[in-house]
Amino acid sequence: MARYTGAVCRLCRREGTKLFLKGTKCTSERCPIEKRNFAPGQHGKDRKAKIVGYGLQLHEKQKAKRIYFTLEGQFREYYEKASRAQGVTGELLIQQLERRLDNVAYRLGFASSRRQARQIVRHGHVTVNGRKVNIPSFQVNVGDEITLRDAAKKFGVVEQAAQFAAANPVPAWLEVNFENLTGRILSLPGRKDVNLPVNEQLIVELYSK
Ligand code: SF4
Repeated sequence: MARYTGAVCRLCRREGTKLFLKGTKCTSERCPIEKRNFAPGQHGKDRKAKIVGYGLQLHEKQKAKRIYFTLEGQFREYYEKASRAQGVTGELLIQQLERRLDNVAYRLGFASSRRQARQIVRHGHVTVNGRKVNIPSFQVNVGDEITLRDAAKKFGVVEQAAQFAAANPVPAWLEVNFENLTGRILSLPGRKDVNLPVNEQLIVELYSK
């Protein structure tokens, strides 16, 4: 599947906000947004016009796609499914993105970014209820037990991520044991449980045109 392989910090600079794509670097002084919060490229500094209407809706969609590293087709599928289900479409859209296995591995502290979590899942280092699952978009359910396999627990990046996560609160819909790197899904995430700099209502307005 096609994926973005460029410098991810450029994506944050393009959006003008931190998307937290590079793990611990994102909360350090090395984050480029701290020093150069303007769009990349020769004319980046000149692009100051306020975005409104359709442009703003598009902007919010791009931001969400970049945060979760999803491509247009899959993102659209999440929207279609959310719009067919009962409930608030925007919230259901975010819920599906949060329930992705790569996102859950990141939220549980198995990796310091969603990108790293995706690699860990792809390489078969994560199990769901005791079975290996190497599909990053796999949707977790309430009661599922997510575990990092023993070999991966010794990875330097995993140890570093777990130490960082242990010092920060885990979302209320998840439970994690940092000793053996195991987590459980306590409930499905509501919008208030998800710290995300995205206005999902604008995405719904964009797709429902
Ligand atoms: Fe974005 Fe993180 Fe890079 Fe900062 S360090 S620009 S938050 S990806």
